[in-house]
Amino acid sequence: MNARPDQPLRFDKPFTQQEPIPEDAIEAAVSVMRSGRLHRYNTLSPDDVSQTAALESEYAAYQGATHCLACASGGYAMQLAMRAAGVMRGDVVLTNAFTLSPVPGAIVAVGGEPLLVETTEQLVIDIDDLQRRQANSGARFLLLSHMRGHLADMQRIARWCNDTGVTLIEDCAHTMGATFGGTMSGNHGALACFSTQTYKHVNSGEGGLVTTDDDTLAARLILMSGSYMLYERHRARPSIESLEALRYDMPNLSGRMDELRAAILRPQIARLASNAARWNALHDAMSDALRDVPGIELIEPHPQASEVRSSFQFRLPGRDAAGMADLVARCAARGVECKWFGDATPKGYTSRYSHWRYTASDSRPGTDAVLATLLDLRLPLSFDVADCDVMAAILREETARA
Ligand SMILES: *Cc1c(COP(=O)(O)O)cnc(C)c1O
Repeated sequence: MNARPDQPLRFDKPFTQQEPIPEDAIEAAVSVMRSGRLHRYNTLSPDDVSQTAALESEYAAYQGATHCLACASGGYAMQLAMRAAGVMRGDVVLTNAFTLSPVPGAIVAVGGEPLLVETTEQLVIDIDDLQRRQANSGARFLLLSHMRGHLADMQRIARWCNDTGVTLIEDCAHTMGATFGGTMSGNHGALACFSTQTYKHVNSGEGGLVTTDDDTLAARLILMSGSYMLYERHRARPSIESLEALRYDMPNLSGRMDELRAAILRPQIARLASNAARWNALHDAMSDALRDVPGIELIEPHPQASEVRSSFQFRLPGRDAAGMADLVARCAARGVECKWFGDATPKGYTSRYSHWRYTASDSRPGTDAVLATLLDLRLPLSFDVADCDVMAAILREETARA
């Protein structure tokens, strides 16, 4: 990594390089292509189980959920989940002020009005602010985004949702494989949405999954995803009676998953647990190296949460915007790509709520204060612990300099 010992340390691996798709997944994809049958309902006999139906069964089993639907993207999964839950035009949907843009985008797509809730220094939803805003608005839906894998007190939120009649939909794009209080993330609410997009915990380029234990919600999801009258071919589905009861009422919002993606995802589900351990080892290496650095505050998980820490966040309280911009530039010059959520303009994947003008939100001072000094690094599995040591050393040196 270092050309010469007297030269400053440099990091030279790309932050957007994923691991290759596993060989067994590639073989499964090739068989699908050889068959020519890429559509999930293109089976030759009614008893054939498609790759997509098998993925749904396997993911439902992994998640410990009764039903699962695979679909076109994580954003589509959230839209469908909200529609199934009954979000109608003009309905207020509570969500995190700190999340990624597909979350408010999904709310706007179904005609909902996002009501953004403040963020704590642990990067989770501020439950006191959530309760206040629900009381003031009468909102009946919460699309809770576990942004960057950080879990709020899920028992408190689930209890409160239950008591107030708020439907909880979880955005688990960053918590596939995580648990809270021993319960899988995604099993605390009515519906959970997952993404299989390249930068999440499994990789099919694009794709989404929705899980639920509720028969009616599952029937709505399947019918709306564009199942035509072929819903019988799903496996992780409710009874045929539940589907027949709704089939004249649900619009076809065509957004199915295809066989190719399902084929490459199935072997990856089996690897989730070992990959979670690998991600956490990278994260531990970063945390251990930076824990005692003056000026750096790490994000500590809730004691009941067991997270999959596939990215690394830290705060630099007290630093002003110029100091943050300078630090980001100096780290970038040495190959360490930090994303800064306090930046005035959106860059790449990184934007914050004030850039989402379509949400028409007024300011969230608590969230502003947290994001102003928040930095974020990807930890792709193409990195190893030695890479983390190099990145941490660079961050340490550059933090000390300013
Ligand atoms: C990626 C992501 C989604 C969904 O993303 P798609 O790209 O539509 O699959 C949802 N929420 C968060 C927080 C995300 O990062």
